[in-house]
Amino acid sequence: MKFKRSEELYKEGLVHLVGAVNSPVRAFTSVGGNPLFIKKGHGSKITDVDGNEYIDLVLSYGPMILGHRHRKVRRGVAKALRSGYSFGASTENEIILAKIVCDAFPGMDKVRFVNSGTEAVISGVRLARSFTGKDKIIKFAGCYHGHQDSLLVAAGSGLATLSLPGSKGVPEGAVKNTLIATYNDLESVKVHFEEHDDIAGVIIEPICGNMGVVIPQNKFLVELKEYLKSKGALLIADEVMTGFRSKFGGAQELLGVEADITCLGKVIGGGFPVGAYGARNEIMEEVAPLGGMYQAGTLSGNPIAMAGGISTLTELKRQNPYDQFNDTAATIETILLETAKKYNVDLVVNRFGSMMNPFFTKGKVTNFEEAQTSDIKKFAIFFWAMIKNGVFLPPSQFEAWFLSSAISKRDIKKIAVAVDKAMLAVSKM
Ligand SMILES: *Cc1c(COP(=O)(O)O)cnc(C)c1O
Repeated sequence: MKFKRSEELYKEGLVHLVGAVNSPVRAFTSVGGNPLFIKKGHGSKITDVDGNEYIDLVLSYGPMILGHRHRKVRRGVAKALRSGYSFGASTENEIILAKIVCDAFPGMDKVRFVNSGTEAVISGVRLARSFTGKDKIIKFAGCYHGHQDSLLVAAGSGLATLSLPGSKGVPEGAVKNTLIATYNDLESVKVHFEEHDDIAGVIIEPICGNMGVVIPQNKFLVELKEYLKSKGALLIADEVMTGFRSKFGGAQELLGVEADITCLGKVIGGGFPVGAYGARNEIMEEVAPLGGMYQAGTLSGNPIAMAGGISTLTELKRQNPYDQFNDTAATIETILLETAKKYNVDLVVNRFGSMMNPFFTKGKVTNFEEAQTSDIKKFAIFFWAMIKNGVFLPPSQFEAWFLSSAISKRDIKKIAVAVDKAMLAVSKM
């Protein structure tokens, strides 16, 4: 397999782009080699600039849930393009998408659209502070909530991949109201409430995908919600990754928990830049122009991006691929575990719906500390063998793999062949 054109573009890219990427998760720092440049995508597959084809398990880190260039999304966006790109005034598409979103999440009467997951979380946290009049926010180690200053501590994902404890350039003052707890450990939340009386709420990935996939154990989320209610604090569900992916109504629908504030991104725009935050009326009425919490955006609710979201979610609802996702993920899990056993490689697989990934470790992975026991050198070998056998994975042990509804039985067979070769390579390390 040749990567000549990717290598050329990488060198060119280094001149005017930082590390030739526009998001550090796309760099190949932790797996070695140069990042691949992608030319096009179709259905379950993407093709790089050297003409190599891959089954895509990155899917733009989640948004492309229907696979690439779905016909109906293309049609919806093309239609919107004919009417204009942005007006700085309201359009009907915003109302249509808002209704789809509010219908999907029972705890959401109103929604505000923004342009990214990061923006959704910045605003969701501000809203929790505005509504409660309190400043402190608890987050869990290993959960990623976008790149805003106050939440860039113990933030998993890209930081964990680059072995960074936090980000430079974040002033101490910006994180002084951030408290860290341990995922799946309610006691670690209670300790903070015993020490502080100004906690506005807890932000959580209801199914974590940013330290690799980590699943809430037993009744963790339900008990967390009950506890917060008893303390008058809010539960902020960061469903940027899980919204419309775990289930149409997100992880909340699946786990039977209703958050006070929900943040969305990724799938909601189907590949176009859309984020959103929403809550019941009483909370959303804090937001300007109804209330005193200011949040704005020149391109927010952009009609083209709204059209991408409307067509993606409409088709997703029609397809209802969630049972199929479970079956496919279970099949891939079996392939991974049986192949690992065949070659004597220690492996744990975590999965939830269409999110999954293996950890090269023993035992179980239920929090960030356990995720970090994974052997990232083994992952790097595995990653490159998968690439060379036609499967595109995130270049990091700490990112989830995603499934699209376009994946076929033939794709899964191809994945099985690649996993066999990759696990053999790992066993020879
Ligand atoms: C991706 C992600 C974000 C950030 O979204 P961007 O669109 O990258 O800004 C926030 N929270 C979670 C849980 C995410 O997975």
